[in-house]
Amino acid sequence: MEENFLDAIAADGFPEIFKVLLDHVHDGVYFTDTSRRILYWNKGAEAITGYRAEEVIGRSCHENLLVHVDGSGTQLCMAVCPLAHTIRDGKFREARVFLKHRNGHRVPVLVRTAQIRDPQGRVIGGLETFRDISGEIAAFQTIETLQEMALLDPLTGIGNRRYCDNMLRVRLEEMSRLDVTGGVVFLDIDYFKAVNDTYGHQLGDLVLKMVARTLAGALRKVDFIGRWGGEEFLVLCQPATMESLRVLTTRLLSLVRCSSLLTGGTEIRVTLSAGCALMRTEDTPATVMERVDRLLYMAKNTGRNCFFIEEGEKAVQGRPSLA
Ligand code: GH3
Ligand code: MG
Ligand code: MG
Repeated sequence: MEENFLDAIAADGFPEIFKVLLDHVHDGVYFTDTSRRILYWNKGAEAITGYRAEEVIGRSCHENLLVHVDGSGTQLCMAVCPLAHTIRDGKFREARVFLKHRNGHRVPVLVRTAQIRDPQGRVIGGLETFRDISGEIAAFQTIETLQEMALLDPLTGIGNRRYCDNMLRVRLEEMSRLDVTGGVVFLDIDYFKAVNDTYGHQLGDLVLKMVARTLAGALRKVDFIGRWGGEEFLVLCQPATMESLRVLTTRLLSLVRCSSLLTGGTEIRVTLSAGCALMRTEDTPATVMERVDRLLYMAKNTGRNCFFIEEGEKAVQGRPSLA
């Protein structure tokens, strides 16, 4: 019998160190001979598929045990199996497919295939590794779904008006259900019309993107930011207190003030005005937006580049830090 790696595996002469190593990776790993008969199946493969090594070793992967399908449901094992192709042409392949768990449900996996050759360079089999990507897919689908549902603003990539409306409702509802107070910051770029008039609409758009990116970068993952309208932005944070809302708004105004759009030797800077308030249990989206809009108006009327925060019945002015 020819002495090669796969014969050694088939004869259960697989070096112990490789077994230990392969059983400690989370990815599924298996080897096949050139007819895709499975010779080795690691613990990761057992965990992801639910099939134990003794159930699959000696069987052919084109017996369609795992019934790999692609995103559109096309079965891959007979027609377009990446491993079969790789064994044939030696090219490394990567594919996102869905395999069938022993219990029947579909598991999204990232599959990678490689050809195995003996020291003389003859093809003796193939190697496939696969990783459970359920987590990634879920996140990925969120973005796709948001785009599909038309909730993102195409210019800035943050939430659009519709998403703002939805999130306001969600946060107000969570306020009573989870007993967590939400904060609302309504921001508006100062003298933005003058930016358009001076530099043109296209550069105006780039300024909007710059501001959106700066604001989004200053927030935590749990906070929400959306474009309310032309040059107006809505930030929702939670849990919020008067003090945390003041600190957040100060940060947002300060960061935008010290940001700029550099273009062809010109540096365009803008400032923001804002109104902010804590949500009240009796609020509706309309009532809370009315209050922050009024506070924003006060900031505009007091020279801009500042904000007003509602503290009980009073409105207190805040300014960006000087640094
Ligand atoms: P204020 O400080 O009072 O807010 O003054 P302002 O000039 O920022 O406010 P105004 O409401 O007078 O003008 C807003 C400008 O924003 C006018 C509009 O052309 C511009 N704008 C709205 N949407 C967009 C957009 O998508 N791209 C660009 N470039 N400009 C926009
Ligand atoms: Mg405006
Ligand atoms: Mg404005």
